Amino acid sequence: MNSCIFCKIIAGEVKGEVIRVSDRFIALKDAHPVAPGHVLIIPKQHFVTLFDLPDNWGSELLTFTKAVASSLLDKKLGDGFNVIMNNLEPAGQVVPHAHLHLIPRKDGDGIRFFTKV
Ligand code: 5GP
Ligand code: ZN
Repeated sequence: MNSCIFCKIIAGEVKGEVIRVSDRFIALKDAHPVAPGHVLIIPKQHFVTLFDLPDNWGSELLTFTKAVASSLLDKKLGDGFNVIMNNLEPAGQVVPHAHLHLIPRKDGDGIRFFTKV
């Protein structure tokens, strides 16, 4: 998809800090991190939501996500981490190219998810 910002980053048309790659995925530093080390796990191919990701990519996604999370914890960016995926606009998806948020966490960092007002 030509207008997709993540496709442009993957194609090298737009700058992005890619910290790790696998056959099918990249780990990209989020441009607006909610915590130091916040990265996005993004399929190199354009899919919109979790529903579109092929089931047989699941194993690579899990292995890749674990490896990236381990490297963030090894770098002392967090003592724990969240993996979050926003699917479609009502759930907060802004970029319509499927991605996981990997967010390092520390005690008392003040980050709150899933609050209801
Ligand atoms: P969503 O709400 O779609 O799950 O999150 C999209 C994420 O992509 C946001 O956290 C946002 O900061 C990040 N983002 C949006 N545009 C860019 C970009 O051009 N480069 C990078 N590295 N991250 C981006
Ligand atoms: Zn895309």
